[in-house]
Amino acid sequence: MPNNISYIPNWINGQEAQPKTASWLDKFNPHNGELLCHVADSSESDTQCAIQSAVDAFPAWSDLTPVKRGQILADIVSAMKRNADALADCVALETGKPPQDAKGETGGAILQAEYFAGEGMRLYGRSLASGMPGKYSHTVRQPRGVAGLIVPANTPIANIAWKTFPALICGNSVVLKAAEDAPRIALLFARLTKEAGLPDGVFNVIQGRGQPAGAVLVTDERVNVISFTGSTGVGRWIAEVAGKRLARVSLELGGKNPLVVCDDADIDQAVHWAALSAFSNAGQRCAAGSRIIVFRTVYEEFKEKLVAKAQTLKLGVSAGCDLGPVVNKRQQQSILAAIETAKKQGGRVLCGGGAPTAPDLAQGYYIQPTVIEGLAPSAELSCKEVFGPVATLHLVADVEEALKLANATEYGLTAAIHTRSVDRAMWFAQKVRAGMANVNLGTYGSEPHMPFGGFGASGNGTREPGVEALDVYSELKNISFLVRPEQL
Ligand code: NAD
Repeated sequence: MPNNISYIPNWINGQEAQPKTASWLDKFNPHNGELLCHVADSSESDTQCAIQSAVDAFPAWSDLTPVKRGQILADIVSAMKRNADALADCVALETGKPPQDAKGETGGAILQAEYFAGEGMRLYGRSLASGMPGKYSHTVRQPRGVAGLIVPANTPIANIAWKTFPALICGNSVVLKAAEDAPRIALLFARLTKEAGLPDGVFNVIQGRGQPAGAVLVTDERVNVISFTGSTGVGRWIAEVAGKRLARVSLELGGKNPLVVCDDADIDQAVHWAALSAFSNAGQRCAAGSRIIVFRTVYEEFKEKLVAKAQTLKLGVSAGCDLGPVVNKRQQQSILAAIETAKKQGGRVLCGGGAPTAPDLAQGYYIQPTVIEGLAPSAELSCKEVFGPVATLHLVADVEEALKLANATEYGLTAAIHTRSVDRAMWFAQKVRAGMANVNLGTYGSEPHMPFGGFGASGNGTREPGVEALDVYSELKNISFLVRPEQL
C-alpha cells in the first residue's frame, strides 16, 4: 500500500475519528482508475457514536435563536467562499468532473448555503384567526432533533449543502452519510464548519457503505428525520423501515426525464438543450434528459443535429472538456450492460455506445455520449434510469402522443418541451407528471429558492430546497392564548 495515499476518516464531535473496525475502502480516481485514497469503512457502532454526538449537541444548538444560527451558518458560507477553489478542486478530483463544472457546482452549493443562512431571519410562522373571542393563535417552527442526511456522489458539495443548511437552520443537529465516491469533500466541509464556529457535535460525518454505515441512520430511534438522495430501490427500503417507527422521511430519487421537441421548435436550441440535458455531468443527474421525444416531421433533422453535436463533445478532465467519466467502474459496467441490452431489444446505436479507446481515457470510467433510436417505449432503456450519458430517441405524431409517452414511466421528476406555441407549452406543462416542467429549456433542476422533487417513483412527495425544505426539517406547533377570559 503506497504511503502517500491518504486515509479519509469520519468526523464526530468536531474531530476526525478513525473507524472502530480499522477497515478501509479503496477510492479510485475515475479519470485513470488509480487509487486515490482509503475511506473509513464504518461499522454500525461508528454511526451510533456519530448519532450520540448529534444527540448531545442538539439541546444547546436548538436553544439558539434562528437568527443566531443563521449568523453561524453565514460564517460557514464565508469559509466556503474563501475555500471555494479547494472545494472545487476536490470535487473535480473525486468525481472526474471538468474544472469549470466543479466550480459551477461549488458556486451553486454556496448560493444554497447563503439562502438558508438568510432563513434564520425569516423562519416565519402564521398568525391565525380564531372562532373564539379573545383567543389568539400563531404557528412556530421547531426542530425535529437529529437529522440523518444521506447523499450520493454525483454533485457532492451541492448535495451536502442542499440538506445540511436547511437542517441546521431549523435547529436540528446532523449526521451526514457521505457518498462512498466523494469522501474527502465531506471531510473538507466538516473542517470548514468547525473553523467557522459551528459547535462540536452539531455536524458529524460518517463515511463508508450504505449498509451498514448509512442504514443505522434509518433504523436508529434517535434519528428523527431522514433525508435521502439516491436510487429509488434504496429509497423504497428507507421509506418502509423508517415508516415503521414513524420517522419523517424525505426522498429525492431517480428520474427518466422526457424532453419533447415539437414541429414548431427552434431545432438548434432544442439540440443545444437536449445535449446538455442528456450528457452534462456524464449523465449522472437525477434530472438528466434521457428520453428525447420528437415529432415525426422534424425527427430526421433533429436526430442528425443531435448526433453531430454528441460527436463533437470532448471527454476528459481538463478545462473546457464537456464531460468526464462516470464515478466508478461498477457504474461504467452497468451502463455498458444497459446499452448491450438495448441493442438486443431492437435499439440502434447512432453514436457512442461504448467506452472510448483513446490512450488518455482508456483507463478511466468513461462512456462515449450515446444516442439510441428504435426502442419500444416498454424496452428496458426506455423506462429505467441508467445514470450515464445515454439518451434514447422516440418518434411521435403530435403533442398528445408526446405527453402519453412522457408520462409512461414510473418516474416523474423533470420534463421539458420545445415549442413556440404558448398553447402547447402550457397544456403540456400542466399535464405532464413531473415535479418540474420547463419550456424551451433543459430538464434542469431548481435554484436554491425553488422547490425540487418528483411525482411517482422519483420521491415521496417532499420538496427540497426552497422554503418547502423547512417543512422537512421542522415541526409546526400551533400556539394559542386566551386573554380577558372573564369577558367570555
Ligand atoms: P445509492 O442509492 O446507491 O446511494 C446513495 C447514498 O445512499 C450513498 O451514500 C449510499 O452509501 C447510501 N445508501 C445505500 N444504501 C443504503 C441503505 N440501505 N441505507 C442507508 N444509506 C444507503 O445511489 P447512487 O447510485 O449513489 O446515486 C445515484 C442515484 O441517485 C440515482 O438514482 C439518481 O437519480 C439519484 N439522485 C437523485 C437526486 C434527486 O434530487 N432526486 C439527485 C441526485 C441523484
